[in-house]
Amino acid sequence: MRHYFQTETGARDVKNFQYHAPNSLTEALTLLHRHGKNANVLAGGTDLLVQTKRRVAEPRFVISAKKLPNLDYIEQIGTDGLKIGAFATLTAVLENPFACRAARFLSSVAKRMAGPAIRNTATVGGNLCNASPAADMSAGLIALGASAVMASEAQERAMPVEAFFLGPGKSARKPDEMLVRVDVPDAGRRFCDYQRLSVRKAIDIAIVGVAVSAQISEAGYASDLRIALGAVAPIPLRAKQAETIVEGQPFSEEMVREAAAMAASESSPITDVRASADYRRDMVAVLTRRALAGVFHAAKEEA
Ligand SMILES: Cc1cc2nc3c(=O)[nH]c(=O)nc-3n(C[C@H](O)[C@H](O)[C@H](O)COP(=O)(O)OP(=O)(O)OC[C@H]3O[C@@H](n4cnc5c(N)ncnc54)[C@H](O)[C@@H]3O)c2cc1C
Repeated sequence: MRHYFQTETGARDVKNFQYHAPNSLTEALTLLHRHGKNANVLAGGTDLLVQTKRRVAEPRFVISAKKLPNLDYIEQIGTDGLKIGAFATLTAVLENPFACRAARFLSSVAKRMAGPAIRNTATVGGNLCNASPAADMSAGLIALGASAVMASEAQERAMPVEAFFLGPGKSARKPDEMLVRVDVPDAGRRFCDYQRLSVRKAIDIAIVGVAVSAQISEAGYASDLRIALGAVAPIPLRAKQAETIVEGQPFSEEMVREAAAMAASESSPITDVRASADYRRDMVAVLTRRALAGVFHAAKEEA
């Protein structure tokens, strides 16, 4: 296919790539096996098309997910688990009908992302595979302890989402693999909170994102706690030392402040046009404090 793009200088640029729209996963995986390193899966295209236009990505083979059947579902598993097909859109996540806590939490994350037009095409799988440190869904899924399931011609394998990211734009997905599903484990009395800061209120990527998930016992003690930080390191990462401060503890202002300061020290933000590194670090502390207070507060309300 010859594809025409308007460049920033106004000149017309011509790129050539082969466009495939396989009808089955088997067919798609065969194409990825054949062209892997030179190929890109096209899901919603909200990252890939922008990158192609800017020449950040120059795929020679584009494998569209448009006709792939049954990979855009969301299912509840047990009391609070989920299976999310890689091509489920952010709108589908936002509007999911499930009453479980994980589903409500991911809906609240999706609601904070982009605007309706982007959310209608952007997918969960695209958000992960693009491997942006600022991707909101990545932080949310890390906090939930989710796994990424990838398929190739040879096998299917799963890995924790927190191990999926290797650097900006780099993931552990091999060139011949497609992300097919995300599994959110079933958990007991799980409470979650997502705090996000951006320059503008809508349609802007996060300057800092903090997702927290924890089981809080009826007596108010936290366990299985995860604090995921977005946009403040080369990858979305867990603030593991901060987690140890809260794990096994009941709520106290002092403990939450200490954990929040530790999370800030575990981040390694950069300065860019949207915020300085120092400001981002300060905001990690503020948002972590709010998110931790949020989960304890929600548990208390329900007790
Ligand atoms: C105006 C605007 C606002 C935005 N706001 C936000 C925001 O608030 N928060 C946020 O996190 N992001 C935001 N984004 C970025 C983007 O919309 C998301 O990252 C989105 O989820 C990407 O999904 P997609 O389906 O469009 O991916 P695509 O663009 O189709 O793909 C992205 C990358 O992942 C690869 N890929 C996609 N699916 C798979 C798969 N299943 N297996 C293997 N590889 C795959 C593609 O080859 C490509 O390299 C915004 C983008 C725009 C243009």
